[in-house]
Amino acid sequence: MQYKSTRNSGLRLNSSEVIARGISEEGGLFVPEMLPDFRTALSSLSELSYHALAETIFSAFLTDFSREEIQDCVKKAYAPEKFAGEEPVVIKPLTAHGENKYLMELWHGPTCAFKDMALQILPHFLTKSLQKAMPGKEAVILVATSGDTGKAALEGFRDVPGTRMVVFYPKDGVSPMQRLQMVTQEGENLTVCAIEGNFDDAQTGVKQIFTDSAMKQKLTEQNMFFSSANSINWGRLLPQIVYYFYAYFDLYRKGALSHLGQEINIVVPTGNFGNILAAYYASEMGLPVHRFICASNANKVLTDFISTGVYDRRREFFATNSPSMDILVSSNLERLLYALSGESDEALSGWMRQLAETGAYDVGSVVLEKLQARFFGGFCSDVETLQAIRRVKEQDSYLCDTHTAVALEVYRQYAEKTGDTATPTVVASTANPYKFVTSVLGSLEKVPEEDEFQSLARLEELSGTKAPVQITSLKNKALRFDSLCVSKPELPAFILNTLGIGGN
Ligand SMILES: *Cc1c(COP(=O)(O)O)cnc(C)c1O
Repeated sequence: MQYKSTRNSGLRLNSSEVIARGISEEGGLFVPEMLPDFRTALSSLSELSYHALAETIFSAFLTDFSREEIQDCVKKAYAPEKFAGEEPVVIKPLTAHGENKYLMELWHGPTCAFKDMALQILPHFLTKSLQKAMPGKEAVILVATSGDTGKAALEGFRDVPGTRMVVFYPKDGVSPMQRLQMVTQEGENLTVCAIEGNFDDAQTGVKQIFTDSAMKQKLTEQNMFFSSANSINWGRLLPQIVYYFYAYFDLYRKGALSHLGQEINIVVPTGNFGNILAAYYASEMGLPVHRFICASNANKVLTDFISTGVYDRRREFFATNSPSMDILVSSNLERLLYALSGESDEALSGWMRQLAETGAYDVGSVVLEKLQARFFGGFCSDVETLQAIRRVKEQDSYLCDTHTAVALEVYRQYAEKTGDTATPTVVASTANPYKFVTSVLGSLEKVPEEDEFQSLARLEELSGTKAPVQITSLKNKALRFDSLCVSKPELPAFILNTLGIGGN
């Protein structure tokens, strides 16, 4: 299979080049030339283990990888020592009150957030891609993170030969536990640095470096090149397609679906639009989906976009209690709009130019209608998020994190507004509640000013659940990167210095 760019439909690259580069030269995102069709294969796929399902789906997309290479990637990424339990993804029914909803827990990996599902396998895809597409070169992976990507990328790429990694996170934009997870990171090939500003500043700063020809030249001289582990990289999106199929088949095997072909709803707490886009691709490949429910927090730029067709980032940025969704520019929306506009690279180049120059664009009525036919958008405030955590704990005896709570609350709004309570619904649960312990505990009782680890012990006591060892062990880890902080203009110099090719 070949890939093209959302801003250059004429381009043709194979999957190893696409994964190695991360983003296209003209700033567009790589997309498959066409999607494989699994409609007639649903019945045979429905019996597969997670590993076998992943191998089948990856094989359809990574046609310049051998089956053995793909098997090797899957086996290493989703090994039992990385994801505890029989399968890496766990589906939990929340059907106590006659409801038809199922939580898809995606956070059983090493860093307790759904990003592990993709970032445990990306390094394996990437090292194999490098051998094929750019032998002998070193990949310098730049990451902008709203909290969870950073840690998951660091953990995935730690000491991976042929790679260096620099992670930037917004100084005041991550939870204390997320920050602690990153600044205690071990590994010789990586650096973590705070950036003045919010996630969008970090993301645009990093994106500018990818298209900076002087920077590119400096790296080329050192036999290095930039790559990305953010969800703009196709190698991040592809692994996310798998679990939507997996969840569907799990529901079918447990009798929650009457037949293969019955439609489900999918609810996703959304930031950069990567996770929900993977669900959309799954449905284009034959997964029967009724509606995609796109849940936002107070940064509701996507809710407004789905209702008006106008994407407008010119608004106040809120630091919320679901920080991994505090984003005003959702990069992966570009891929959806490419599909909905009939793959018009011209339209996409225009809208993205307008976004960069004026901060807004309008996709017009034709694309808007297609969008609204499949997507429902909703948002909730911090207070509603906390209420949702409390409600779910009381009604379903289930402890969820703030991001999952946003999804559950917006699903409630959807059901109320549309009356659709019958369609079986899969809700993406994207983080372990202990990762956001202060907010989660705060939803249940007043939290005194004490440290995170005291809150953690209290939440264990109150909920009868156990904090994961990945979180509890942070308490005794040395702080390694806690003093680094740069402003956006200092980014290029900082990166060159880190790589040891500074000078000026
Ligand atoms: C990254 C993240 C999200 C948002 O996912 P996108 O793919 O960026 O839309 C939601 N919840 C958590 C916990 C996350 O880490």
